[in-house]
Amino acid sequence: MNLRSLFGGQLLPDFARGIHPPQNKSLTRELPIETLPLPEVVAIPLLQHAGAPAECAVRPRQQVELSEIIGRRVAGGLSANIHASVTGTVQALTAVPLPNGRRSQAIPIKPAASEDGSHANVSIAEELFGGDWPEDEIAAAQPIDILNAVSEAGIVGMGGAAFPTDVKLRTTPERPVETLLVNGCECEPFLTSDDRLMREFPAAIVTGARLARKACGAKRVILAIESNKPEAADALRAAAENCPDFEVRVVNTKYPMGGERQLIPAVFQREVPTGGLPLDLGIAVFNVATAAAVAGAVLRGHAMTHRVVTVTGGGVRSPKNLLVPIGTSFQTVIDFCGGLAADARRVLAGGPMMGFTVTDLSAPVTKGTGGITVLSAAEIDEAEQTACIRCGRCIDGCPLGLAPTRIAHAAKVGDLVLAQKNHLAACCECGCCAYECPARIPLVQYIRAGKVELARSQTESRSG
Ligand code: SF4
Ligand code: SF4
Repeated sequence: MNLRSLFGGQLLPDFARGIHPPQNKSLTRELPIETLPLPEVVAIPLLQHAGAPAECAVRPRQQVELSEIIGRRVAGGLSANIHASVTGTVQALTAVPLPNGRRSQAIPIKPAASEDGSHANVSIAEELFGGDWPEDEIAAAQPIDILNAVSEAGIVGMGGAAFPTDVKLRTTPERPVETLLVNGCECEPFLTSDDRLMREFPAAIVTGARLARKACGAKRVILAIESNKPEAADALRAAAENCPDFEVRVVNTKYPMGGERQLIPAVFQREVPTGGLPLDLGIAVFNVATAAAVAGAVLRGHAMTHRVVTVTGGGVRSPKNLLVPIGTSFQTVIDFCGGLAADARRVLAGGPMMGFTVTDLSAPVTKGTGGITVLSAAEIDEAEQTACIRCGRCIDGCPLGLAPTRIAHAAKVGDLVLAQKNHLAACCECGCCAYECPARIPLVQYIRAGKVELARSQTESRSG
């Protein structure tokens, strides 16, 4: 069911259910993107995408250039190439904790020092996203060249799922893409990296969307932006002014509007069926940062080596929006932002709704890290967990219409059959249920643990 909200006298597209957590974006929304000085070392994980880890393609002491391939995707899956995010010397392969709690092999690279002994630091935001995007080059780009450039550059969805972008773009006559939906919602509280990218580099996003549209053959492009980012909507509207079949659509500010299963009903008044994909409706969804990366890959030959990260929360001394080389440790990024405040309590990869708690700050920024949120004591709800009072608020808040308490309970007691019957796999881990729960039951933690257990048992039964 689709709803429409009244906003400033205007009806805005909306979806059913969802919540309105405090936005807390004012800490960084007016801060332009800065470039992080080159770190002492980066450790670039071979697993930063949905599929199998890439295979290491370099050896210790090898000299590599920025953007050079260092990990090759594994054929036949959802793997992606990995590239050097700095020019420098490869160190011995190591294992690193990932922001999502998993571990991965990683390739450390020590950046080359400049002649004066300092690390060279080039502000590359302009080089990656700025300047002109020549019309003749956009017109000359052929679909197959776009697909190959995106694949070679290791581009994956930067909105969180890290699904290889070229796979999304490779359509078949049986399953065509009618509409390219560019997602600029950034509904997660605290985070502003997409907002700043849209405001500062709208031409890169529109150019990437034009190229992606060409590659997949979409008839039209819709750029969807929440109503709390009017400057971004204006910037994209201006950048797309002369693009036929492009439309900027402002949608209601509500969490989790940025989830594709919420955004699609809001924009198209159609639901993605449970177990289905947006492509079943002829829709391909791209995050705005992914679109900008497509432009850089196709027209400038840039691999996916950097990303904009919002470093925010009351627990970090100097919040920022930062362009960061992939593989930089959370510790290095936080140090550049003045370090942890005295009352810092919890570091999250991402925002407070969908983020993962990070306990080891040697974890590196990956292609999917849109934010580092450090919550202070005042920002953490430390109320005690109590027993479920069967109030049903978790059900009312779930944007997918699931029964979170049933899934979580089944996962907690290890009854994976019951958890699956209650659609464990469909849960997008948005956190609305836990946010609404007056008993402070960590529903999403139980659900995530259930998914990990399910994946483990499925792997075991396949292998043996
Ligand atoms: S059950 Fe999953 S999809 Fe539903 S509110 Fe909870 S986390 Fe979100
Ligand atoms: S919101 Fe919490 S207390 Fe209420 S039914 Fe759901 S799990 Fe139980």
